[in-house]
Amino acid sequence: MRLDPQTVLRSVFGYDSFRGMQGEVIEHVVDGGDALVIMPTGGGKSLCYQIPGLVRPGVAIVVSPLIALMQDQVEALRQLGVKAAALNSTLPWPEQQEVERQMRAGELDLVYVAPERLMGEGCLNNLAHTDLALFAIDEAHCVSQWGHDFRPEYLQLRTLHERFPHVPRVALTATADGPTRREIVERLALENGREFVAGFDRPNIRYHVRAKTNAKTQLLSFIKREHSGESGIVYCMSRAKVDDIAAWLNDEGVPALPYHAGLPKEVRFANQDRFLKEEGLTVVATIAFGMGIDKPDVRFVAHLDLPKSLEAYYQETGRAGRDGLPSNAWMVFGMQDAARLFQMIDQSDAADAQKMIERRKVESLLGFAETARCRRQVLLEYFGDTCEPCGNCDTCLDPPETYDATVPVQKALSACYRTGQRFGAGHVIDVLLGNMTDRMRQLGHDALSVFGIGKEFSKEQWRTVFRQMIAYGYIRADAEAHGALVLIPDTARPILKGEQTVILRKERKEAGRRRSEKRE
Ligand code: ADP
Ligand code: ZN
Repeated sequence: MRLDPQTVLRSVFGYDSFRGMQGEVIEHVVDGGDALVIMPTGGGKSLCYQIPGLVRPGVAIVVSPLIALMQDQVEALRQLGVKAAALNSTLPWPEQQEVERQMRAGELDLVYVAPERLMGEGCLNNLAHTDLALFAIDEAHCVSQWGHDFRPEYLQLRTLHERFPHVPRVALTATADGPTRREIVERLALENGREFVAGFDRPNIRYHVRAKTNAKTQLLSFIKREHSGESGIVYCMSRAKVDDIAAWLNDEGVPALPYHAGLPKEVRFANQDRFLKEEGLTVVATIAFGMGIDKPDVRFVAHLDLPKSLEAYYQETGRAGRDGLPSNAWMVFGMQDAARLFQMIDQSDAADAQKMIERRKVESLLGFAETARCRRQVLLEYFGDTCEPCGNCDTCLDPPETYDATVPVQKALSACYRTGQRFGAGHVIDVLLGNMTDRMRQLGHDALSVFGIGKEFSKEQWRTVFRQMIAYGYIRADAEAHGALVLIPDTARPILKGEQTVILRKERKEAGRRRSEKRE
């Protein structure tokens, strides 16, 4: 007799009801259909293949690139009484052979396999003699050649369909932008499958973005004000900064642990373990931290540097508030951060087409950071989802003032242009303000018509204007020329000609911000 999914959910996993689209996906796959499941991290993707794997006769094969996590997943399933195993190169050979024998004998429910292992001829032959329940392809975005996680072995997974046409396939990912979705469907030959896109909104997370004045003091006052004694994650771009911030937080009375790939393995594991088990610790980490972290009561995720994209931001902030209770996603950023990201892209050895895609991703991220709209709307729209103004982000709670900035933006564009598009914001702002620096004298820029035409704003106000100009794509920071600001003709020209009005946001005043402190 066939088991039914609801019974398995209760008796094996101990849950009362399906979450979101799980029920629909499971029914479809149990009936033998192919599926592409797009669900945010923590949305419950695993059950979408685990339950069909148990309900359908035969062994379910789960392809996963995360070898490090496989053993944990297998262990967790065994605890629940599921006959699970892993096949990857880290296992001793006799053990691998034993798993293969058990597969053929139908003694297993679920087998996790690394893609390169699966596509080996030996393994494929073994599969041909195995009764198969389904193929689950986890982290399916690894098939996307334009993504950060591209795995060439994933391209070969397409042949699973050719060799085993009657075995249903379910591909799962948390990366949902349209082009990636289409690429997954095409490369895995899922045209006849159904797409399931689950809601991306995390209503309990409150989003805040601030201009970076002094990142350390801003962070400290945020933690002390809102999260004293609670668990949180602080993301930084570099290892050195992680060490520095962690030590400093400890000095300031916030218990903090560093985590990055440069630390000895034992220290990393110990820190991660303490974070998971103890209350009230802050982990200061690079993006190396977080894959597979399932701590329900992380109350805040702070970014001291910009993440690489909105997908990365969503993933990283999504580690807050898994228990559904109010949590904060908090970020400070400055123009330097954006320039650095563009620089990293330009200096990478990626193909031009890829660089362009990556640059677009950074622009979307800047658009989010600089928006005067509801942040949740901007975020969800990026993922093809929508919502009403949320009432739970900084722009909803404290709407920024906007103003007609056409004239100041014209001045700023002219100043970039007249100085030869060879200087960063610092110098261009000095020109606008008419600051008579040594450099100014040497360059003779005090003789330009734009010298001193922007005295209506302070240095800080001009920085806000320039950040938004980058976010809206009027100018870009040229990495080849040390962040020199270059006009983007298509968008800058209509503004200079007075054919387009520009509305910008005024920088909000932060309580307790110390004016005297230097920017990064
Ligand atoms: P994903 O793979 O999408 O990141 P997981 O499958 O790891 O997410 O699920 C995230 C968490 O949600 C896990 O702790 C899981 O046990 C829990 N979960 C999943 N489905 C349900 C459900 N129907 N009811 C209760 N908890 C669930
Ligand atoms: Zn909002």
